[in-house]
Amino acid sequence: MESDKRETLDVDVLFVGGGPASLAGAIRLRQLIKAHNEKVKREGTGAPLEVTVALLEKGREIGSHAISGAVLDPKALRELYPDFEKRGCPLESPVTDDGVWLLTKQRKFPLPIVPPPLRNHGNYVASLGKVVRWLAQQAEAEGVDLFPGFAAAQPLLDGDRVIGVRTGDKGIDRHGKKKANYEPGIDVRAKVTVLGEGPRGTLTKVLVNRFRLDEGRQPQVYAIGIKEVWECPKGSLPAGRVIHTMGFPLDRETFGGAFIYSMAEDLLDIGLVVGLDYRNPRLDPHALFQILKTHPAIARMLKGAKILSYGAKAIPEGGIYAMPRPHVAGCLIAGDSASMLNAMRLKGIHTSMKAGMLAADVILEALVANDTSAAFLSRYEERFHDSWAGRELWKVRNFHAGFRNGLVPGLIHSALQMVTGGRGLRDPLPSEPGHTRMRTLREQFGETPLPPDEVVPRYDNPLMLDKLTDVFHSGTKHDEDQPVHLLVSDTSICETRCAREYGNPCQHFCPAAVYEMVPKEGGGRRLQINASNCVHCKTCDIMDPYQIITWVPPEGGGGPEYVKL
Ligand code: SF4
Repeated sequence: MESDKRETLDVDVLFVGGGPASLAGAIRLRQLIKAHNEKVKREGTGAPLEVTVALLEKGREIGSHAISGAVLDPKALRELYPDFEKRGCPLESPVTDDGVWLLTKQRKFPLPIVPPPLRNHGNYVASLGKVVRWLAQQAEAEGVDLFPGFAAAQPLLDGDRVIGVRTGDKGIDRHGKKKANYEPGIDVRAKVTVLGEGPRGTLTKVLVNRFRLDEGRQPQVYAIGIKEVWECPKGSLPAGRVIHTMGFPLDRETFGGAFIYSMAEDLLDIGLVVGLDYRNPRLDPHALFQILKTHPAIARMLKGAKILSYGAKAIPEGGIYAMPRPHVAGCLIAGDSASMLNAMRLKGIHTSMKAGMLAADVILEALVANDTSAAFLSRYEERFHDSWAGRELWKVRNFHAGFRNGLVPGLIHSALQMVTGGRGLRDPLPSEPGHTRMRTLREQFGETPLPPDEVVPRYDNPLMLDKLTDVFHSGTKHDEDQPVHLLVSDTSICETRCAREYGNPCQHFCPAAVYEMVPKEGGGRRLQINASNCVHCKTCDIMDPYQIITWVPPEGGGGPEYVKL
């Protein structure tokens, strides 16, 4: 059959993922090639380069899946386009006011001094989706070929070399059978592939396991960031105000805090970050986020406001000590996929962009030298460490690990790390994968009777939205007739061991009500996966205590459609 034939596309350099790392990298590479060719022409030495640069994005369009805390440090953007403001980069507002609040259930205590890492003078409140869409326009104008709606499903390997990626098949039904519109995925072959897939990247995970890229590194630790955008009554908010909070509604042993950013047009970004190394198996980050909004100080800000958008995403918190080796022959890894986020500042856009640009520098050198071996590409890691981005991450290398024993020791560790350039009391501080810290029901609650398992908490305040309402506001859409993209390797564990030991925590940690334990014929309960709700946050792949869930990309174009996130 004609449609069964797999097509091949050959490019020179392929960027996977349409986020800040890939887009900045692709733009930088086109700029470098142009400068190289102009120099060759001017000086008459060397050979001009003819290089095709392509970028794949799994979302329906570039920016569909972009979500972040979105206070942008413009350092990397300024390096890429010194005139970014004149070019019309769509930033909401310069930061005009910074605050840090300690919250109790009813009260707020503003810190008299904002700690230096949380000061945002010179930064901008931004919608990452808008910035990424703008970067995509610049990339296209520079000559990058963009392919939105194509999910990279697996790396193509030739021995120890990455030679490109295979995109996911389209038109397969829920039983794995080909439909009338079946199209096999395309093999996109490249001399160099750059993975900028975001946190817990699917292809990155394959390469990390295959090439043991995490050998000698600390385990990665994540948090989940859950966020809503609200439209407030006209004139009620000064744009550019940035507030971070600690305390309520999190208990003292759970890492996290909230962020509240006011954007242009009376929009309010509000979100909660919860460490995915929490202990209580019934902890529900989405429910905690809803409770956060009932705090009097926050409820006041939301008075008369209307929900516009919702999203969730994992955040790599492990920092530079958890960075996997970001290079193999023919491939580089950049941005959140390579743990290049500053967890103390809750910022990764600028470091991701810088990583993409450094990758571009090394790729140009590799193309000129006609050498894309692992040894040649290893200079990328050195360059990253030597750059301002690497130095910035080095200073916060023990940040998340400092909170291992809760909020108060964490704040003491942070203060010590700040005055010792990141070293603190012990360097490196020990760290373990977050899911290994989850307690069993018995460890958490002691002997029977257990408290009732409120899978769907009672939402008795109009500011509290349940998961399905929030999924609606994420704009998430998947073709229902396709294979489930959440692969559970052994569902009998869910029905037996997990039910008994942990009470099926997937029902709680998934912020989109994808996992449900439903009555089974003949008694007992079985796992039902509502895959079309998925907002692609990757939490289940990370936090499942048995590590039996694997998130794989659904058919390209599926997933959230984030607006103003
Ligand atoms: Fe996130 Fe997994 Fe739930 Fe999808 S199924 S929303 S990736 S936790």
